Amino acid sequence: MTYAVTLIPGDGIGPELAQAATNVLEATGIGFDWDVQEAGEVTIEREGTPLPDRVLDSIRANGVGLKGPITTPVGSGFRSVNVALRKELELYANVRPARSMAGVESRYDDVDLIIVRENTEDLYAGVEHMVGPDAAESIKIITRAASQRIAHYAFEYAVRNRRRKVTAVHKANIMKLSDGLFLESVGQVAAEYAGRVEFEDRIVDNMCMQLVQKPALYDVLVLPNLYGDIVSDIAAGLVGGLGVAPGANIGEKAAVFEPVHGSAPKYAGQNRANPTALILSGALMLRHLGETDAADAVESAARDVIAEGTTVTYDLGGSAGTREFAAAVATRVSR
Ligand code: NAD
Repeated sequence: MTYAVTLIPGDGIGPELAQAATNVLEATGIGFDWDVQEAGEVTIEREGTPLPDRVLDSIRANGVGLKGPITTPVGSGFRSVNVALRKELELYANVRPARSMAGVESRYDDVDLIIVRENTEDLYAGVEHMVGPDAAESIKIITRAASQRIAHYAFEYAVRNRRRKVTAVHKANIMKLSDGLFLESVGQVAAEYAGRVEFEDRIVDNMCMQLVQKPALYDVLVLPNLYGDIVSDIAAGLVGGLGVAPGANIGEKAAVFEPVHGSAPKYAGQNRANPTALILSGALMLRHLGETDAADAVESAARDVIAEGTTVTYDLGGSAGTREFAAAVATRVSR
């Protein structure tokens, strides 16, 4: 079986991670027909846009993409390609697992969280304007339809993966209308799963403290876009940092798999960055394609090499390069 997959290497550390991850995925013996599509800063000069239509067309045609990080200028400049891609393709669920790993120094060894982040609205809708020269307004958009859709995804995920509990995260005490609607919508969906999946809610600030102090109490979290982004990084930090945190953007017609981390420009081109997050994103892609054995092989190979500790990157306390780590994982996979 050969799969046609759109490969977006991205920029910064993206291209070297993409090379590492594709080497590992190919070691499974599964065939990949990589449709390489550049996006971001490089295509602005050449094509006048950071997200050319050909990128979206390729993902629509293949139904699946593997993506490295893409830089977003701060303050001014083009809007986030990452956010635009999720919106254009209606990749409404951003799913980010955070699981403790042997060999990775972290505060806890029993973290097993699934972050389910709404990916299409909230403050990320990018509806902003200046009100005169000295004030700016950003509009937070929350709809019942999108909130129910992400809630259904979270509960279905829980049922499919035998998870016990879903926690809705919000600030409905202050944003009574917008976050209030999110909470009410998730609660309505939760009622359909009563007796099968436990449901509770937490205010986002309390949630952050609880995650840092007692992460083992939590299971699947469902959040609006902005809180989901921030809490994902907390969850990544709990299990060893951004270098090991994978993610999936899931829609009805397409899915794009990418790490939680960004383009870490200061490490670009140095063969230093940890490719684990993109490799594990590739494993999530294999699972999505129904290639469960190959996904298990990639995940356990990465975990084994990390647990062994001799060929790991700087962020995990080692001195191996991106390529050397990936080669060690690929060798285990092909065994
Ligand atoms: P970042 O995730 O790129 O890096 C933060 C720090 O985390 C790095 O300095 C590094 O110390 C560490 N780190 C990240 N990835 C690592 C890896 N694979 N191996 C080892 N260490 C790693 O976050 P940032 O510096 O805030 O953002 C840089 C750029 O990336 C920005 O332009 C931002 O907009 C963009 N970004 C893109 C995405 C995406 O493409 N989905 C996500 C987040 C940020």
